[in-house]
Amino acid sequence: MVYHTPVNTLREMIKKINISAPIYFDEPMASHTTFNIGGPAEIFIQPQTKEELKTLFSFCRNHEYPWFILGKGSNILVSDKGVKGIVIDVESINAINASGTVIHADAGAEVNRVCEYAANLGLAGMEFLYALPGSIGGALWMNARCFDKSISEIIKSVEVIDTDGLLKQLDRKILEFDYKTSPFQHKEMLILSANFKLQTGNKKSIKSRMAAHKEERIAKGHFHLPCAGSIFKNNRAFGKPAGAIIDSLSLKGLSIGGAKVSDLHANFIVNTGSAKAAEVRELINLIKDKVKNAYGFVLEEEILYAGDWS
Ligand SMILES: Cc1cc2nc3c(=O)[nH]c(=O)nc-3n(C[C@H](O)[C@H](O)[C@H](O)COP(=O)(O)OP(=O)(O)OC[C@H]3O[C@@H](n4cnc5c(N)ncnc54)[C@H](O)[C@@H]3O)c2cc1C
Repeated sequence: MVYHTPVNTLREMIKKINISAPIYFDEPMASHTTFNIGGPAEIFIQPQTKEELKTLFSFCRNHEYPWFILGKGSNILVSDKGVKGIVIDVESINAINASGTVIHADAGAEVNRVCEYAANLGLAGMEFLYALPGSIGGALWMNARCFDKSISEIIKSVEVIDTDGLLKQLDRKILEFDYKTSPFQHKEMLILSANFKLQTGNKKSIKSRMAAHKEERIAKGHFHLPCAGSIFKNNRAFGKPAGAIIDSLSLKGLSIGGAKVSDLHANFIVNTGSAKAAEVRELINLIKDKVKNAYGFVLEEEILYAGDWS
């Protein structure tokens, strides 16, 4: 999005918006990403109600202010220069409820909480998502995929503010998803909530499947150090998962500054303490070069570059 509003004008204008949520200036994004990396957000707002969220989103759209919707920040690398414009954090929009076998979750609800809610009602079908860091909105946007199953496979409908600025309930049938792609990507769209179609199941078995998924992630080192999960997408045409390709070049442990290819998972880059976003990006480019030189193909990033990379 083009940034063409002078900073002071934007800061003054935003104070006039009619919402109760506090407005923060120059909020460090490192506190809002799982990488623990990222410069300041020029303006950072956490709407407290869906109405406030809608008001803020419409305000940004109508005035053509630059905005970025933040879930749990678990799939983004925010630039060291930070984010120009308004970061809208949906964390507080997080209600969850159920009607029969359908679970309704707001965009800011933590995926883990939604899985636990379903499990406590004896509803099966979400276990594969358990221990995935992130929010429902972020998981839908990314079409998050775990243990060979994508979140799009359990959606019934999604409530959005659509590209035309209107509130809509989109039925799964009209939504086109693919591997790690969703109809929400790179569009001026806000995901507000979703309905998931589950099945009745045995509470104990559901919880034991969830626990097994969590254990597997722990064993693979997912939560060992700050990171954003897999850096690169898998591509069937490459014959092996991205992690195996990187590992075949013995790149585990390769580091630039505080950014390091995880010793435990070759497709993860970890922040060993004080990594800069620029170091992570440099390491990503180095891995891409090495893979291209060795195999002739180009790995594609799964993580998103957010903020000012100019
Ligand atoms: C340890 C670890 C393990 C991981 N394992 C997996 C895995 O197994 N599978 C997998 O798919 N991913 C994995 N990830 C990546 C990440 O957890 C997922 O992509 C997650 O779904 C991102 O959700 P989020 O809320 O953090 O989104 P964010 O990172 O905050 O945002 C991601 C994108 O979604 C957009 N967005 C977020 N909310 C909304 C909304 N309400 N409306 C519109 N746009 C929105 C943002 O603008 C951004 O473009 C892992 C990450 C970590 C740290």
